[in-house]
Amino acid sequence: MVLSEFKLIERYFRQQGISRPDVILGVGDDAAVVAVPQNHELVLTMDTLVSGVHFPESCSAYDIAYKALAVNLSDLAAMGAQPAWATLSLSIPQLDEKWLDEFCRGLFALAQQYNVQLIGGDVTRGPLVLTLQLHGLVPKGGAIRRSGAKVDDLIYVTGQLGEAALGLMMEQGQIAIHDEALKALRNPQARIEEGIALRGIAHSMIDISDGLAADLGHILEESYCGAVIDEEAIPIASSLRHAMSYQEAWHKALFHGDDYELCFTVPASLQKKVDAIFSHFSCGAHLIGRIESEGGLRCRMRDKHIQSMETKGHQHF
Ligand code: ADP
Ligand code: MG
Repeated sequence: MVLSEFKLIERYFRQQGISRPDVILGVGDDAAVVAVPQNHELVLTMDTLVSGVHFPESCSAYDIAYKALAVNLSDLAAMGAQPAWATLSLSIPQLDEKWLDEFCRGLFALAQQYNVQLIGGDVTRGPLVLTLQLHGLVPKGGAIRRSGAKVDDLIYVTGQLGEAALGLMMEQGQIAIHDEALKALRNPQARIEEGIALRGIAHSMIDISDGLAADLGHILEESYCGAVIDEEAIPIASSLRHAMSYQEAWHKALFHGDDYELCFTVPASLQKKVDAIFSHFSCGAHLIGRIESEGGLRCRMRDKHIQSMETKGHQHF
């Protein structure tokens, strides 16, 4: 039996168990209605994933949905926002019930974890493309921007870098499969709690989607400053480190991206505070460098010479 569009929405997009009291009207009307709590601001982000561009055609529906939500969560994390609601625009070539079941399983598994409610969207027939918009909340004025870095700020990065790069090499059959790295590529974990904990502490923040060098580069541009980072301070994922030469691993950790860790800057006086905050988070935060007034990104190499660095990441055009 072929599902009607109405039945499809009913069956797949209205199934979510969690319900937030701030959703006044969810899926099913012409538009959704939500209540923004007093003294808060709405933080909006959107990402589009195109089959064959952002994920291989062989990618499972579960992983596609999971990643679409995960990358949006990561953008909210980078603002210090608390996720709340999502809208989803889905273009699919055909009505494949098994595919949709898996898609919803991936989407709602992660949505449940962060108490995100799907409140609306759109479905059309076409090439496989999904656009997910995520809505989050911050106390008034509390969003952490890219533009707030100040000279002498310390630069930190959470977690380890480069595991997704390794996952991609596995997916492309270049090296043997390592479950953790594939998971990092397909089911990345956004640093939501970490981002929220940095409200009022971090001067600037960004999530690492295009590689540390490129994304730190965005902070530097938006903040009209430069930075020097330490070669030896870059937290290279140990799996990556073991799979290739030090030089190659270091390069991937800095330039590959898809890691969804946070890069942030704080005034040097708050170093102990950052240590205290991250003693509660298993990912940790690594001090990698310092903001300077001279523009551009530089790296202090092991032999102490200073090398200037490219800040170009992946670009679609
Ligand atoms: P309209 O024609 O008024 O735009 P639709 O028929 O497109 O309404 O959608 C009906 C309802 O289903 C709306 O509430 C819409 O938000 C919701 N909806 C449609 N597609 C999705 C989706 N992919 N995910 C969540 N909600 C959806
Ligand atoms: Mg309508």
